[in-house]
Amino acid sequence: MCGIFGVYGVQDAAALTQLGLYSLQHRGQESAGIVAVDDTGQARASRAMGLVSEGFGDDEMALLRGPIAIGHTRYSTAGASAIENAQPILARVRRTHIALAHNGNLTNAVELRRDLEDQGAIFSSTMDSEAIVHRIARAEGRSPEERVANALRGVEGAYCLLVVLDGTVLAARDPHGWRPLVMGRLGDGWVFASESCALDIVGATLDREVQPGEIVAVDALGMRSMQALPAAPINRCVFEHVYFARPDSTVFGGSVDRSRRALGRQLAQECPADGADIVFAVPDSSNSAALGYAEASGIAYELALIRNHYIGRTFIQPTQAGRIAKVKVKYNPVRELLEGKRVVMVDDSIVRGTTTRGLVSLVRAAGAREVHMRVSSAPIISPCYYGIDTPRREELIAAQMTHEELVRHLGVDSLGYLSIDGMLSAMPKEPDGYCHACFSGRYPTDIPSEPELLRAGGAAPATAGMS
Ligand code: 5GP
Ligand code: SF4
Ligand code: MG
Repeated sequence: MCGIFGVYGVQDAAALTQLGLYSLQHRGQESAGIVAVDDTGQARASRAMGLVSEGFGDDEMALLRGPIAIGHTRYSTAGASAIENAQPILARVRRTHIALAHNGNLTNAVELRRDLEDQGAIFSSTMDSEAIVHRIARAEGRSPEERVANALRGVEGAYCLLVVLDGTVLAARDPHGWRPLVMGRLGDGWVFASESCALDIVGATLDREVQPGEIVAVDALGMRSMQALPAAPINRCVFEHVYFARPDSTVFGGSVDRSRRALGRQLAQECPADGADIVFAVPDSSNSAALGYAEASGIAYELALIRNHYIGRTFIQPTQAGRIAKVKVKYNPVRELLEGKRVVMVDDSIVRGTTTRGLVSLVRAAGAREVHMRVSSAPIISPCYYGIDTPRREELIAAQMTHEELVRHLGVDSLGYLSIDGMLSAMPKEPDGYCHACFSGRYPTDIPSEPELLRAGGAAPATAGMS
């Protein structure tokens, strides 16, 4: 998964982009980058491994001049996390530049890359996104948006793109609309972002979503919209609302806080825990869902797990310490609240089950008498091919165990998951406009023929994942 942000027509666009990327840090912590274009058409890039706060020094920011900028935060778990895979990509072609930032995963990246390589294209990264840059470089069109539209015909899978092409900023969303992308106004300028929380930080006002299949172009001629790609069934990612997006964002036209609370209320209805003393969240991703659960059940909401906010994702590797130690670095239970209590622990999802198992034993060690686990999504049983790094099926605990085995394995007194229908009923807009393949196993499109190769962006040997 990744976060993308872009600005057109505001001075110091790069500084605004840096701010926007801070708000999208949760969508990717592996690398961050900004490309800025100045008034003379000169494009400059700065990319670094790690967090936004580590990536851009004052000297670098001073070089990123101009009224146009796009930025990217990247998240991937597979293979090498390498600087050549950091985005935005900046290529110089036909005496101008193409800059591109991508959120999503292409499902035909292997085929696209092979075709381009057969035609003599040379790739400098293992990202699927680079194939789009090559296609834009080769595409013809009377306008920038037509050129990008022509490049995108034949590209399959999930993408939200921000592109800078010779002084025009373009935003594109695939016709299925898996990933979110919004646009807003800032003075006379335009701002684009994966989530609306990034508009807030720069003081922009939310205008609307970029629609599935739409290309928006902004340049000296103004803003133009083109419904560029053939209509397709809408498959918004339900997991954006369940886990990924920030609760202070509006995603797919609805508040994430509101949908998470609705998920929690629905969970309380479907999986009550009668007689429990307290309900608490596994912070932070399930805070809102646990609040909803407490609201609907009438059970007292407590902050019984405290999360340490200073732990980087890679601080402790699985090989360096045992499961419990790893969990303990991140969470500490409040003994005062747990001792002797029958507790409901709410989390948004269970993937491998390792964190959950560690947490349950931590909560028990702090004195909880009964632990009732409630999950505000359905069991994850299938991998995602549309931009979220769910592991292979063999590592998905709910795909490997029966309900009774899971209860024993996690060490809980009871375990309740939300139904798929219950989950979809909490989403904004109509429930059949959502992808739920990782929960149902029903993929809305053909799945990739070579998923392992795809994880490497279509490049062999498989060295890096891209999302
Ligand atoms: P598990 O028990 O499966 O090891 O971990 C479950 C926790 O992982 C939950 O708290 C959930 O919020 C979190 N989670 C779910 N999906 C992802 C993801 O894609 N990346 C990360 N870092 N955490 C995730
Ligand atoms: Fe989202 Fe799951 Fe569909 Fe992937 S498979 S796009 S995570 S709902
Ligand atoms: Mg979590």
